[in-house]
Amino acid sequence: MTKKNLKAVAPEELEPFMLELGLPGFRADQAIHWIYEKHAQSVSEITEFSKDLREKLAQRVYISNLTLLKRQVSEDGTEKFLFELEDGETIESVLIPDSDRLTLCISSQAGCMLGCRFCLTGKKGLRRNLRSHEIVDQILSVNRALHASSDSPDCRVAKGMGQNPAPSKITNIVFMGMGEPLSNFDKVVDALWRIVKLLRISPRRLTLSTAGITPRILELPQKAPMVNLAISLNATTEEVRDYIMPVNKNYPLTTLLSACRRFPLPPRRRLTFEYVLLKGVNDTTEDAKRLIGLLRGIPSKVNLIPLNPFEGSEFQRPEDQNILKFQTILLNEHIAAFIRQSRGRDILAACGQLQARYRV
Ligand code: SAH
Ligand code: SF4
Repeated sequence: MTKKNLKAVAPEELEPFMLELGLPGFRADQAIHWIYEKHAQSVSEITEFSKDLREKLAQRVYISNLTLLKRQVSEDGTEKFLFELEDGETIESVLIPDSDRLTLCISSQAGCMLGCRFCLTGKKGLRRNLRSHEIVDQILSVNRALHASSDSPDCRVAKGMGQNPAPSKITNIVFMGMGEPLSNFDKVVDALWRIVKLLRISPRRLTLSTAGITPRILELPQKAPMVNLAISLNATTEEVRDYIMPVNKNYPLTTLLSACRRFPLPPRRRLTFEYVLLKGVNDTTEDAKRLIGLLRGIPSKVNLIPLNPFEGSEFQRPEDQNILKFQTILLNEHIAAFIRQSRGRDILAACGQLQARYRV
């Protein structure tokens, strides 16, 4: 008999599943508690169950986990985790510590099929969609790793020295790693519910970034918890966007922005627009002025992300003074515009694409 993966059973199906196994329904809640809050990685770790029960259960079920292949720490404290999935595919997650929050940037797909020209993930194509539990497991695995290292003598010394350590558990999640979350819609929606309900992270602390799968943008608030939304705009004309983000040919800038205008934003919340600055391509004064026009009427903020170039990249990062000039034009028109300086560049965080654009 093939064993069933407890994480692959939808949480609401777990109780009927336990009953099917001849166990009382409350075992489902206990299993959920042990998996999501105590980070149990195998049935044998659920010590609330008697030894006998664990042994019996282990004959029928198992708990899958990501395999941590590599953990790299950047000079600035950013950490990159390379994980292997059950079928051998690999994904990355990046941990970004700050004094008041600990953000994990997670992947929603192994690779991406949208092929943006400035993105290393896009260059490599799509391997496959992640399953809901593989999305959530990135958080569980990193939390477990953090828990293990916080017990280490080194860490205790650092804390004892009066430094102000970042929170010891992940507080914020951004879907800005590998993949396009809205191209893996159902699994991402399911993962968002698990993160909110089982990991108890508030939707206000979750951000989903999309290249603009327009119909899904409006479907998201109907199906998922009300998370923050970031749109990777990256261009101000259809021509330039068609070239750098081929997805624009299916969902053009104009329809994307009209979906943004109709997006049911809760009071005091804004949409974030990400704008990767590419030298000579989308960083001119005219672009900045057009951007102001495009965003008119949308409660928004803009994250300007100087390109993080990679080997063989056809674009360059603009000079600092041009980045500042672009920002100033936006600020003068009262658009909240932030320059997100690179973090983790020395470890090519998230395929060399991740910069500190995680603050929304
Ligand atoms: N697919 C989603 C989420 C993952 S990419 C999306 O595109 O929004 C997350 C962000 O990384 C996007 O805003 C994208 O524009 C940006 N990005 C991709 N490659 C980059 C690079 N080389 N330098 C800087 N930012 C990059
Ligand atoms: Fe995919 Fe986002 Fe990269 Fe574009 S920027 S290829 S949508 S991961």
